[in-house]
Amino acid sequence: MLPHPSVAEIEAGLKRWTRRKPRCLIVERVGRSVSGRPILAAWVTDQSLPDDDKQHVLLTTTHAGCELNSCTGVLHLLRWLISNDPDATRLRSRYVVGVLPCCDPDGYEEINLDDPPGGYYKRAGPYLAWTPDGPANPEENPEAVALYEVMERFRPEAHVDVHGLWYQDATMWESTGISWSTALARSYEHRIPRLMDEFAERAGFLITRGDQDAGQVLASSTVPGAAHHYYIRRDAFNVVCFSYHRYHSLAFTLEAGFDESIVLRLRGLLEAGLRRWRYQWYRGLPVDHVAAWLSMQVAAWGTTAAQRRASRVELWQNLESCLCGGAYPEPRGSMAAVVAFGLTARERYLADLRLESVIARLAEEPRFDGRALADWAAHTPATRIDVSTPLGPHASAEEHERLAGSSARDHLPHQGLALRLLIPYRNCNLTHLRLDGHPLSPSSNEGYRITKGPGCVVQVNIPPGKVRDFHIVTCAYDPGVHRESGFEPQDWNQ
Ligand SMILES: [Zn+2]
Repeated sequence: MLPHPSVAEIEAGLKRWTRRKPRCLIVERVGRSVSGRPILAAWVTDQSLPDDDKQHVLLTTTHAGCELNSCTGVLHLLRWLISNDPDATRLRSRYVVGVLPCCDPDGYEEINLDDPPGGYYKRAGPYLAWTPDGPANPEENPEAVALYEVMERFRPEAHVDVHGLWYQDATMWESTGISWSTALARSYEHRIPRLMDEFAERAGFLITRGDQDAGQVLASSTVPGAAHHYYIRRDAFNVVCFSYHRYHSLAFTLEAGFDESIVLRLRGLLEAGLRRWRYQWYRGLPVDHVAAWLSMQVAAWGTTAAQRRASRVELWQNLESCLCGGAYPEPRGSMAAVVAFGLTARERYLADLRLESVIARLAEEPRFDGRALADWAAHTPATRIDVSTPLGPHASAEEHERLAGSSARDHLPHQGLALRLLIPYRNCNLTHLRLDGHPLSPSSNEGYRITKGPGCVVQVNIPPGKVRDFHIVTCAYDPGVHRESGFEPQDWNQ
């Protein structure tokens, strides 16, 4: 068995570190296991700085208790994170990192290699005892309940559940964001796991790539008659699926054969959140966009990480009532983005989706500038508004019923809202940009921000207290470049 501290030794060791580094580490007991052992959480951040603009990353471990190197790996990460290394110092100023080094202390302490560790996997434990509503059988799973309570207050931007092995001289395929037990535990931003892999591979490790290495297309259900040509994974719902479902976290599993590669990949994740990602005018993990339709996105509002977290989680948890869309067919030179919350708003504003009908309907209400909207509509070749279906084609009757029974007020975002226009011309020049027909000024708070590359992304920010059940952003622009379409007779000339 690989050398690993007991739960009591982990607690004593972490407390020693807190005495040595009181300004960057807090350790607490967040619950107890079935047998009464403590479940520990370590919180790393620069406590001299306010938390408003810090991102939250959660790390969990010890699937069935026996995957010992997941615990030892994150202890090594913790040791580095509280060190005086300039990179660690920088990360502490931008993050609160929550580490639960031993989520299943009973399995961890009772591991007995004469009784194959496979025996421990029979218990669902804090890794697998989850439903979309929270811990399954909470009275039998106090570890999952403890984890749930941590997650509810932390609402992480990223959550990685670390997996591994128990023999000292063993290794295993390493992977990031590719769960072997479920197709659901994956990152919706594919570049983050790849960037983490690069951190480890630069140091000589080899991180396998699941479907990519198998040369097979990933599927989550069988493909009748062709199942052997698809990389099929089940749709089991585990702890990281819950983080994604509840908080829109970038949540996935990490398989590890080596402690050092755990440290390197998690450092890669933290470094990723210091970048400015696609479509974002700010630096931070790309977690704030919660829906898209045509060339528009619904995203969180906020100028700080805390504001965006509150907005993101609120939008995400009410997404089933959110319709979004835009002017269709999408013209070159103009576009619109609409958003509606609740069925009432859909019925009131989008019962007839012809563009002229929608504009005429809005002109009846004083909060819209009907004249400006009509002027925009007169200059766009789009003919209708095309909107998403909030529940998608596979929702259950129960989900439809729940949506039908809710009122617009139930779903109105209180934490603000951002709408993004994804304009496919980097150097376009805006000639019209209005919200509900009213002009906008550049502002990160209430107004618009432009981000260039890829294309030109215009983000319209609607602050808390000002979100209504329906909004429309209208836009017109000079593309700045002419792009040919089609193949004309002269194109045959060589
Ligand atoms: Zn595992």
